[in-house]
Amino acid sequence: MTEVGTVQETTEQLQKVYVEPETDLDTRWWFEALEQDRLEIPRCNACGRTFFPPQPDCPHCGAQDWRPIPAGGRGRIYSWVVCYLPFDPRFAEEVPYAILAVELEEGVRLFGRWKGDLDAIRADLRVQALVYRVDGHALLGWEAA
Ligand SMILES: [Zn+2]
Repeated sequence: MTEVGTVQETTEQLQKVYVEPETDLDTRWWFEALEQDRLEIPRCNACGRTFFPPQPDCPHCGAQDWRPIPAGGRGRIYSWVVCYLPFDPRFAEEVPYAILAVELEEGVRLFGRWKGDLDAIRADLRVQALVYRVDGHALLGWEAA
């Protein structure tokens, strides 16, 4: 039987197993674009729809024919979660912070850190993407538009 640890033990364990953004052949281009301060999303050449996250097949029609297109970075807050425990020690001094699910104007949902005042978060709020860096890694964030 597995013993359930304390919140402190669980947090410490999570901190040890946290991994950097892990890229593969399907997602590497997306992170490379972000490193250059560009937000791009895949768009299917067969059905014309956008999708996210990047993957080999279009989730709408199954075609393997797609290309990255620039995204404007404008969207609206779809949902969010406020983190009170830092799941990475590098964020320990930033709690509480919020992770947003944003519906982009291009029709896909992306997740990223809210960089504004927590009290300002509300459903459907207009936001703009931004790129910030942690230990040299480009990460997606959001601010009020
Ligand atoms: Zn398609």
